[in-house]
Amino acid sequence: MTVKSVALSLADLTDNDGVLAMTASQDKTIRNNWQREEVLALFNQPFNDLLFDAQVMHRRHFNPNQVQLSTLLSIKTGACPEDCKYCPQSARYDTGLEKEKLLEIEAVIEAAKVAKASGSSRFCMGAAWRSPHDRDIPKVAHMIREVKALGLETCMTLGMLSEEQSEKLASAGLDYYNHNLDTSKEFYGEVITTRTYQDRINTLANVRNSGMKVCAGGIVGMGEEQQDRAGLLMELANLPRHPESVPINMLVKVAGTPMADQADLDPFEFIRTIAIARLMMPKSYVRLSAGREDMNEQMQAMAFMAGANSIFYCEKLLTTPNPKANTDMQLFERLGISPEPFHVDKSNDEQEAELHQTLADVKTDSQFYRAG
Ligand code: SF4
Repeated sequence: MTVKSVALSLADLTDNDGVLAMTASQDKTIRNNWQREEVLALFNQPFNDLLFDAQVMHRRHFNPNQVQLSTLLSIKTGACPEDCKYCPQSARYDTGLEKEKLLEIEAVIEAAKVAKASGSSRFCMGAAWRSPHDRDIPKVAHMIREVKALGLETCMTLGMLSEEQSEKLASAGLDYYNHNLDTSKEFYGEVITTRTYQDRINTLANVRNSGMKVCAGGIVGMGEEQQDRAGLLMELANLPRHPESVPINMLVKVAGTPMADQADLDPFEFIRTIAIARLMMPKSYVRLSAGREDMNEQMQAMAFMAGANSIFYCEKLLTTPNPKANTDMQLFERLGISPEPFHVDKSNDEQEAELHQTLADVKTDSQFYRAG
């Protein structure tokens, strides 16, 4: 098949939004039985072949020119007892981070309002805990209810959750819970020693069983081998159900952490990881997460090409820097990408009109989100 005929057949197959038309019987791409050799074979494909396959897969399930926007707020910062070697919030490393107690509800609501006005559809709240104390649950449940009342999707990342805690958060209306696997089972011990891989899998099971959506991904560039990146994706894709959201983070090297001097990962290897996440978890939102501040526009564009379709849209990711909202909007405009609309009742014209207005305001640089 010539390049021209491939292009023609792609155009014939796509609807106006560029989404590939597909019948249910054609959708045989959802698998939970990946073997590491298969994943490594994907890593070893020629780069262009891999990107092409990932883009075709992406178009089967998503509008290729829309990216979902999430805003992340640290609701409790630092003094974490865990020893994650990449994390400036661990109490074990001297990173000069200023600790903060659990934020008051008013501060969270204010930040959520700004996030909504800037165009984010999901508000993620992160607390540096090993796991929440039961006494904290009513407070975070209150936050969930208030943020939802603003018409935003809610996500939290609070550490390990018991079955009971998961159920309480789900009852409060929490849409997503984030808990990353971080890396492969084999490399995990090089990164964290204070909780096990199985602890993480157990939390993901509790979250899933409570009915919340799962956000789970990992970090690359921590000194792991390619087989570990393959292992991470294999663990995620072989969960009983794929996480709805898969954040792929590039290590942010923070002075004072044991990973401060880690060697850079080849940017193409990062793009390959995104593309393979798209191929293995076709219906999941793959989020270009931490490390975006250090990626140039070309690399971000290539990540979108590879199937990334979600970003954190705020100036800080918990404690590390992230591109400014107006920088993101300018890049989107140059790439013809638009933020994924809110999941609102389409009959509610007022809500839609409000969203379009806030996005127009962001384009004119009138609003900036300042987290923390
Ligand atoms: S990654 Fe989370 S659990 Fe690990 S040290 Fe940082 S805040 Fe604590």
